[in-house]
Amino acid sequence: MVYAVWLFGISIAFVVAERIWPWRRQQGLLRAGLLSDILYIVFNSEYLGMIFAVVTARLLVLYNPEPLITLNLMSSKPYWLQFAILLPAFDFAQWAVHNALHRTPILWRFHKVHHSVVDMDWIGNWRFHWGEIVVYRAAMYVPTAILGFAPAVLFYYGILNTIIGHYAHANLRVSLGPLKYILNTPQMHIWHHNHPDCGPINKNFAITLSIWDWIFGTAYMPAKPPERLGFEGIETYPKNIAGQWLQPFLK
Ligand SMILES: [Zn+2]
Ligand SMILES: [Zn+2]
Repeated sequence: MVYAVWLFGISIAFVVAERIWPWRRQQGLLRAGLLSDILYIVFNSEYLGMIFAVVTARLLVLYNPEPLITLNLMSSKPYWLQFAILLPAFDFAQWAVHNALHRTPILWRFHKVHHSVVDMDWIGNWRFHWGEIVVYRAAMYVPTAILGFAPAVLFYYGILNTIIGHYAHANLRVSLGPLKYILNTPQMHIWHHNHPDCGPINKNFAITLSIWDWIFGTAYMPAKPPERLGFEGIETYPKNIAGQWLQPFLK
């Protein structure tokens, strides 16, 4: 089944679940910013990967006719073993990149797009600038090339990331009990998006696994959600996709 079909099914499931078990004030289905959110999900899920694949392939042909690293250490291993190694290795790398996106001023300009969500629901998972994917891809290139996972394993890792990404951003009061120490949850991730006026910042960098935040002391999870989301100056931040794409380059 192609990724777009999975994405559509997972998204519909979260639209329904948010209506059955909402946690905070519920947004209407037709709401402000919906067009931008739809453009983000379509572009970031379908076209961004394709554009990067084409550009990367061109660059490799131009500058690197023989691939630099083709060790493929994992590709002959059973799928379950590949998945068991891929999940913590890639998730930790992404957790570290997410830290850098917050702590490095030039990278924060790009990541601000994701933090411009003020009414969080599942689709907020897809609001991010294409520039931050350049950073993630660059950081992941060498480990991916060295380990060389099977495409099917990478695909199902992507599906798990999508499910947990939607869940962590969803306006859902469904919690995971003690599994919160392993997986990211809405109760945890909402405190990654809080406005600095109403709580500490630079907490809960988890992407799929929450264990890194618990281990490294960045977990923060009060029982109630924050009063307000965003960042300082969000009042004047562009509201549409074109303005948000341009914003990191303007100052
Ligand atoms: Zn962030
Ligand atoms: Zn988020």
